[in-house]
Amino acid sequence: MTRALMLSQLESTAEWDIVIIGGGATGLGSAVDAASRGLKTLLIERADFAKGTSSRSTKLVHGGVRYLAQGNIKLVKEALRERGYLLKNAPHLCTTQPFIIPVYSWFDRLFYGIGLRVYDLLAGKLSLGNTKILSAKQTIETLASVKTQNLKGGILYYDGQFDDSRLAIDLAYTASAQGATILNYVSLLGFEKEAKKINAILCKDEISGKTYSVKAKSFINATGVFTDHVMKLDEEDRENIVSPSQGIHLVVSHSFFAGNNAMMVPKTADGRVFFAVPWHREVVLGTTDTAVDKISAEPKPMEEEIDFIIEHFNKYNTVPIERKDVQSVFVGLRPLVKVSGTNSTSLLSRDHTILVSVSGLVTITGGKWTTYRKMADDAVNNALFISKQQKRVCKTDTLKIGDPEKRLALINKIVEEDAGFSKQLHENFPYTIAEVIFAIRYELAATVEDILARRTRILFLNARVAKELASFVAGLLAKELGKDEEWEKVQVKYFSELAEQYIPSMEG
Ligand SMILES: Cc1cc2nc3c(=O)[nH]c(=O)nc-3n(C[C@H](O)[C@H](O)[C@H](O)COP(=O)(O)OP(=O)(O)OC[C@H]3O[C@@H](n4cnc5c(N)ncnc54)[C@H](O)[C@@H]3O)c2cc1C
Repeated sequence: MTRALMLSQLESTAEWDIVIIGGGATGLGSAVDAASRGLKTLLIERADFAKGTSSRSTKLVHGGVRYLAQGNIKLVKEALRERGYLLKNAPHLCTTQPFIIPVYSWFDRLFYGIGLRVYDLLAGKLSLGNTKILSAKQTIETLASVKTQNLKGGILYYDGQFDDSRLAIDLAYTASAQGATILNYVSLLGFEKEAKKINAILCKDEISGKTYSVKAKSFINATGVFTDHVMKLDEEDRENIVSPSQGIHLVVSHSFFAGNNAMMVPKTADGRVFFAVPWHREVVLGTTDTAVDKISAEPKPMEEEIDFIIEHFNKYNTVPIERKDVQSVFVGLRPLVKVSGTNSTSLLSRDHTILVSVSGLVTITGGKWTTYRKMADDAVNNALFISKQQKRVCKTDTLKIGDPEKRLALINKIVEEDAGFSKQLHENFPYTIAEVIFAIRYELAATVEDILARRTRILFLNARVAKELASFVAGLLAKELGKDEEWEKVQVKYFSELAEQYIPSMEG
């Protein structure tokens, strides 16, 4: 994948079968789906791939134990099936993760024990391992720092875990390997219509400033919490359908939560699920569910959300954390679809929604990372139907995502240019300089943030370390992309300010 190749494809194609707007899980999944069906496919993303919600998840590939408690069997079953496909098709990025629910009443032990056995049964052949009811002693053995007072036991169950933005990059790679043209830093400006039907989009390359009118037969809007904005470019007085809900995560050192098992608390004070999950040798704690009015590409945590996570972790864990221990705080916005008469976002549907406008625009939103493949299948089916294109069968249930061997071979080739490229970027993280150069050359990374937030995950794992690395990474980018010193300075300044937002204030 190189930008020059993608741009030349954009310029030389007279008409596309399908244009997808938005490069998060849903849009990238749709591009893989459409291209693998043989459609001439273009995807545009106005920032970087997974810059939005898709890099800010809890990193779980899951059926959603909570939806089971709500009785939404269909949603759970579908997600468990998708979990199975994802673990098979992207084993280098998605793995099985053991979870323990510590229980402090005999009722909970029975209730969650039975519930999780049902969860297993619903997964059928795609189950990741048998649920076990643990004694208090076994619970302490598997979750070393769990609070032991009144502990009645625990439930061990298995779910999936993944690296969200790395999966997004591998979906982009897979889509392009299947023949799609995939461009980050190209934003949708508007739609062009003939007889009230959209026949082209107007878009802008944010790097060169050049605008393009791009003709296509069908159009998918997969812009997450920005869905309403894009729908209004199509129909000015359209009512909003998205109710954004903010969720934050804190990342702390593994030393506060030793071992490889994750902890899951099914019901916090506000009725949410709370997780502590080992991830890339650190621990992710989350999350919250706060209805918000303002949509931003870089949402900020609320002080009370940070306090909430610290309080809840300390309630269940014997090694307490304070604000100063937080290495990074990252925030995502859920694109939940509005249901009239509902005030709480934790009650809104986690299922996905597809809307087709009079102009033929297919909008897909809601859902979750785990179900992106099914969402893409539905979106592409709708787009083909609406635009009266020939029906083609979806092939993604068995399609491998990414090509880790090829990636490694190319990274090794970069090391042959200079043995120094095999050095780690930072002693605490496995990422090498060669990986960064690879990301610039072949994964469309164009900024310091692309490298430190989404090609590697250092910003999410330790914002202070990420800030320290900004200048070095800017130097690598400038050399590879032929940029001057002024560009480097702007990059470092922008990224340093961004990284500050991932470090919580000490006072609260
Ligand atoms: C706190 C939290 C935790 C979560 N945890 C999990 C989890 O553990 N497991 C799970 O399965 N799911 C989880 N989810 C849900 C999951 O992350 C989302 O459902 C999914 O990432 C949404 O992807 P998307 O592609 O629809 O939206 P996004 O990822 O937001 O992508 C939309 C893209 O559209 C682009 N865009 C917007 N406007 C334009 C324009 N005009 N032109 C071009 N591009 C544009 C944006 O830049 C953005 O990149 C979580 C969500 C949150 C908020």
